[in-house]
Amino acid sequence: MENGEPIAAIATPPGRGGIGIVRLSGRNLKPFLIALLGRVPAPRFATLAPLKDAEGQVIDEGIVLYFPAPRSYTGEDVVELQGHGGMTVLRLLLQRCLELGARLAEPGEFSKRAFLNGKLDLAQAESVADLIDASTAQAARSAMRSLQGEFSREVNALKEELIELRALTEATLDFPDEEIDFLQEADAFGRLERLRGKLRALVANARQGALLREGAQVALVGRPNVGKSSLLNRLAREEVAIVTEVPGTTRDTLRSQVEIQGVPFHIIDTAGLRETQDAVERIGIERARAAAAQADLVLVVTEYARGVMPEDEAILGQLPPGLPRVIVRNKIDLAGVAPRLAQEGSVAEVWLSAKTGEGVDLLQQALLRQVGWTGGGEGIFMARARHLEALARAEERLAAAAEAAGRGLELFAEELRLAHVALGQITGEFTADDLLGQIFSRFCIGK
Ligand code: GDP
Repeated sequence: MENGEPIAAIATPPGRGGIGIVRLSGRNLKPFLIALLGRVPAPRFATLAPLKDAEGQVIDEGIVLYFPAPRSYTGEDVVELQGHGGMTVLRLLLQRCLELGARLAEPGEFSKRAFLNGKLDLAQAESVADLIDASTAQAARSAMRSLQGEFSREVNALKEELIELRALTEATLDFPDEEIDFLQEADAFGRLERLRGKLRALVANARQGALLREGAQVALVGRPNVGKSSLLNRLAREEVAIVTEVPGTTRDTLRSQVEIQGVPFHIIDTAGLRETQDAVERIGIERARAAAAQADLVLVVTEYARGVMPEDEAILGQLPPGLPRVIVRNKIDLAGVAPRLAQEGSVAEVWLSAKTGEGVDLLQQALLRQVGWTGGGEGIFMARARHLEALARAEERLAAAAEAAGRGLELFAEELRLAHVALGQITGEFTADDLLGQIFSRFCIGK
């Protein structure tokens, strides 16, 4: 448990605004209230009051909200001072709180205390930051679902079943002669298989959430003039999204982002992947190469009449083999050919015209399908890479348990235990302090 030492922060963003909020949390904030407004206001009521400095001068007049422990965001006493939204006023209010003995809150410290005091589990606390950072409405909705505990509930349900199976197994360890019969009677292996099935389904939903949060990295390949820019603009326009063109250090490296059905696609133009003698340009090329090496997908744009050319192949040869591909055959309007989409193995091929827009919807379909987007149903949770890794570890351990089943119960029990630990890391049941530090330090101050 935290020691409840009082912390304070400006919780609204810097700049001018209608109101600005200074937030406090601590074991006992009554002395702060008495010093600031001369009394302790009614809990959970909006109280209008002058807020005073050490000399009794009014710094600002504002609304004070007082949430006594434990019914507050952090589980401690929480006070919100809602003043006028100017930086000077807010700094004076914060300064006053520091004088009264609070210290400046670290990023995410309010949420960290909420976690440590059992108000939120770790996955929920993380979704607070994800909700704030959500870049699309879809992403915000799935972060909200995680915050409300849907993801945690599913993880906990799996954990419950796993605990039952562990209890059964460990009890059987005490009767070594009858172990196999005992477990068969209790359908231990059937339970394990059902557990693995549920875990697979949860992983699939969590992957979708991670896709919404992180988006997909696309390496764009294509010779000059095949219509890459026209196509990107077309994708951006169709979705009423913004194409942000952030030129790299060289004229050849370009990153843009388009959004399709709420999934962000980060597109890295690999035009710069060619050989060059220019030192500055080489740095840019290395960056593009590094970015492309992490791509989830390659988008190859070609002209309908010519298809994939040796120059394209040269660049494709530098990308990780086995990346899913989408090959665009652009400019079908010139040939009078109809748009279409064909899929063969991990390669999708789309006939379209960036100029007329025909077939662009097929490209969107192909891109979504190639990154594994299944359409964004209601079951999607905002998951982070950390959660996916923990789920993958739990899957591995359960697979190992299935393998170990024939080779003795002790190994079986141990694999179940490790799977339990992996699941517990998602909600924060077993999580090292340094990992907590890392997670919360990425939050904003005042959250
Ligand atoms: P980039 O160099 O690959 O980015 O290619 P651009 O997008 O700049 O396009 C090169 C030229 O091809 C421009 O004149 C475009 O108007 C033209 N273009 C692009 N897509 C199409 C298409 O689908 N049909 C036709 N007819 N022209 C296109």
